[in-house]
Amino acid sequence: TTFDQLGLSQPVLQALDMKGYNEPTPIQAQAIPPVLEGRDLLGIAQTGTGKTAAFMLPSIDRLREADNQTPFKSCRMLVLAPTRELAGQIAQSAKDYGAMAGLKVHSIVGGTSVGKDRNKLHRGTDILVATPGRLLDLIDQKAFKLNAVEILVLDEADQMLDLGFIHALRQINDLVPAERQTLFFSATMPKQIQELVGKYCRNPVKVSV
Ligand code: AMP
Repeated sequence: TTFDQLGLSQPVLQALDMKGYNEPTPIQAQAIPPVLEGRDLLGIAQTGTGKTAAFMLPSIDRLREADNQTPFKSCRMLVLAPTRELAGQIAQSAKDYGAMAGLKVHSIVGGTSVGKDRNKLHRGTDILVATPGRLLDLIDQKAFKLNAVEILVLDEADQMLDLGFIHALRQINDLVPAERQTLFFSATMPKQIQELVGKYCRNPVKVSV
């Protein structure tokens, strides 16, 4: 399989060319076509499998296609990640892959100035990468809303549970629009994760690598 056989747009293919990626990894080959079609996804995959590009590349094309305006104090794509390190990596990937797409990317994580995050998000963003705690802080302060979310990604959901984010994840599920696409990733599938998948996803395509 090649990337252009998967149905990605020219700007995204150009970004991949610049990154020097020649062929999709197995999770990318399996996940990209159904995500481009708008399906929900359950990806059972570890770090290092190329899962970031598996959700980011087709999402960028979905956002480009829908072509909605950057929403005030909200975002069009929300990526939840357990740690600031991972959130930073995902945000950098979004910038690299979306270089030609003209999408605004921001990340917010705990341990930094909330005031700066408030200013940064005031005009909204297309893609937001966040840790759950900091995101809820900003929502509580009325500095951010989830009403415009079109695509929701949970990355390393099992790690988020281990870090005590179960309550935060339940709250966030209640705040995002019912009509959205959800891409759910976890390396393991304990019972609590299966329950969360049931709440977050609608008839997801399952991909396991
Ligand atoms: P991830 O599992 O998303 O953390 O990605 C692991 C590493 O693989 C990252 O450094 C990516 O830049 C790299 N990568 C992802 N997809 C590809 C690909 N198709 N070809 C080569 N490298 C890739």
